Amino acid sequence: MKICRTIAEVRAELAPHRSGSIGLVPTMGALHAGHLSLLRAARAECDTVVMSLFVNPAQFGEARDLDSYPRDEEHDLAAAGEAGVDLVFAPSAEEMYPPGYQTWVEVTELGSILDGVFRPGHFRGVATVVLKLFEIVRPDRAYFGQKDAQQVEVIRRMIHDLALEVELRVLPTVRDADGLALSSRNRLLSAPEREHAGALPRALATKDLHAARALLAQSDGLEVDYVEVADFDPPVLAAAVRVRSTRLTHGFTRLIDNVVLEGDPT
Ligand code: AMP
Repeated sequence: MKICRTIAEVRAELAPHRSGSIGLVPTMGALHAGHLSLLRAARAECDTVVMSLFVNPAQFGEARDLDSYPRDEEHDLAAAGEAGVDLVFAPSAEEMYPPGYQTWVEVTELGSILDGVFRPGHFRGVATVVLKLFEIVRPDRAYFGQKDAQQVEVIRRMIHDLALEVELRVLPTVRDADGLALSSRNRLLSAPEREHAGALPRALATKDLHAARALLAQSDGLEVDYVEVADFDPPVLAAAVRVRSTRLTHGFTRLIDNVVLEGDPT
């Protein structure tokens, strides 16, 4: 497995592989079974599998959220190697955002609803870094998780609007035995906080907006940012909650989740 830190290295490494298909799995690291399912799909469908490993500062609002994001490159590289990744692109922030950087991609409407209300600029950061990764890697297919349904919708819109030549592949949400969707942020939860977080998947599993709202409203240890039905492809019942934390200086861990309401569960 090749590890590249610069855009020039990625381009040079991939040049001999362009006659075959290239799959890209963008990640922010702290790999878990959700990421591994994307890597597995890419490995099965593509000749060359590229994983990006970049905690994108542009999609974090508050510095402390960025600072508390779990990082474990050694573990991530080992997991990527085991999953059969051919090339990991792990750039510095300066490589992706050189001094004077000022070019942004904004998916205006889809980026400003739901999570966009609570995280202004988040989807601008996501769309920008994903477009840049597409341009660096030039993948035939790119793999994303249904866990981040609004992110998928924003990227789908961007691909369509900008006529990008990449096939979007979306894989189902991977959950722990207790129903909690796997997330790098779960490791920030203490045992009692994790109990409280369990209300989120239980509420969404009702697949009913009013029942989900009622369940979350009466749950301990949580602040609800939103519970909404989103007219995505496929439609989802989506929610975001903040689990109150006694350990974190900023007081909470924010979790998002969704369930598909109709159509293809992927
Ligand atoms: P992240 O590292 O959090 O940016 O996630 C990288 C990719 O993994 C995104 O496409 C996520 O949607 C996807 N992902 C994260 N958690 C899960 C999960 N529990 N199940 C499936 N995909 C996931």
